[in-house]
Amino acid sequence: MAPRVVVVGLASDFGCQVQMTNIEDHLLDVLGVIDLAYWQLASSGHMPEDYDVAIVEGAVTIEEHVRTLERLRRTASAVIAIGSCAVTGGIPALASAGDLEARYGCVYGAEGAAVACGRISPKPVHAVIDVDYRVPGCPIDTDEFVRVLSRALLGLADRIDDEPLCAVCKMKENVCFFERDEVCLGPITRSGCGARCVGFGRPCTACRGLSPEANVDSLAELLGERGVARADLEHRISLYNTIEEVPGR
Ligand code: SF4
Ligand code: SF4
Repeated sequence: MAPRVVVVGLASDFGCQVQMTNIEDHLLDVLGVIDLAYWQLASSGHMPEDYDVAIVEGAVTIEEHVRTLERLRRTASAVIAIGSCAVTGGIPALASAGDLEARYGCVYGAEGAAVACGRISPKPVHAVIDVDYRVPGCPIDTDEFVRVLSRALLGLADRIDDEPLCAVCKMKENVCFFERDEVCLGPITRSGCGARCVGFGRPCTACRGLSPEANVDSLAELLGERGVARADLEHRISLYNTIEEVPGR
C-alpha cells in the first residue's frame, strides 16, 4: 500500500505549499508512489485519522497549532518541516521579540486583540515536537523538497547541508557582494539553495538558517571594519532567525 501523506499549514503565507505545486518535473513521479491523503492548500476534504508522513509548513503561533502538531507526531512515523517559518520560526517569529500583546493590539485594535484567544509566542515546529526531516528556505527549493520526501519515504536519515553558503557561491563564480561593499549573510548561512539569491543579483538574507559552522563574530569583525555595526548585522540575521541560537549573541 502506498504511504499516506498529509500536508498541513500553520502560520504562514502558504508560499511553500504553493511552491510544491511547481514541482512539475517530479510531481507525477511523486504522486505515483504516495497516497496524498490531505493537502490543506489543495484539498477540500478533512484530515484522515491515519497517515505515515506529515509535511508541516508554518510557524506555531496559537495553542491549536500545538494540539495539531501533537496529533501529527502521535500518528505519523515521519514529520517533515518545510520552509523557514516551520524550520526556524521565520518571519512570524519576529513577533516573539518584544511585547507580543502590543503587536496584536497594533494589528487588530484593542477589542480585536482582547477576543483573539489562544495566542502564544511564535516558534518553529521543532520547539513543540520532534522533527525528522527539514527543508529550510523561503520559499523551499522544490528539488530539495523532492529529495527529502524521497528520503522520508525510503526511511533514510535526514541529511541537510551544513556548510556555509559562500562555499557553493564561490564554486558558481558569482561576483561577491563584499567586493561591492554590500552586506551578504552567505558566510554564516546554511547552504543548499545553490546561492539562489546571489545568482539573481541579491545578497543572501539567511532564509535557510545559520550554518552550524557559522562564525558570527568573525563576520561582525569584518563588517565592523567596513562601518557596519554588530547591531545592524544581528538585525539582518533576525529576519529569519529571531529565536535561533546565534553564536556570540
Ligand atoms: S556573494 Fe555572499 S554568498 Fe557569495 S561569496 Fe560573497 S558573501 Fe558569500
Ligand atoms: S541565497 Fe540566502 S536568502 Fe537566498 S535562498 Fe539561499 S539561503 Fe535563502
